[in-house]
Order: sequence, then structure tokens, then C-alpha cells
Amino acid sequence: MISYEIPDPFTTFVANKYKNASGLVYDFFAREWYLKASCCGEELYAPNKKTMTKIRLYHTRNECMGGY
Ligand SMILES: [Zn+2]
Repeated sequence: MISYEIPDPFTTFVANKYKNASGLVYDFFAREWYLKASCCGEELYAPNKKTMTKIRLYHTRNECMGGY
């Protein structure tokens, strides 16, 4: 059986809308927020959500090579 993967437009929309919000995990042992960046898979850590947002924005704007 041959199956083709056709991207669902709505699923893609939701995935893009929340791609930076999802994956945010609080590490209770390290007492840090952990996020695996959706852009390149790099692991980011921050003491709180606000800092995480700053780190993530800095990463995507200045550090991330976007997989290139
Ligand atoms: Zn990245």
C-alpha cells in the first residue's frame, strides 16, 4: 500500500501558531524552564518564563542558523 502524506492546512496553521509555545517544560529538579527550540532543536534553559521568552527571541534573531 502506498500512502502519501498531505499536510492538513489547519494542522499546519495550529502547529505554526504554537510552535514556540509548545515544548516548554519546567524542570523541577533543576528549577529551570527547558525548551527545545523548534527552529533548530537547540536546547534552551531559563529561570522563568519571561526570561525564556527573551532567550528564545534572542536565539531566533541572533544565534539561530535555522538549520543552515
Ligand atoms: Zn534555533
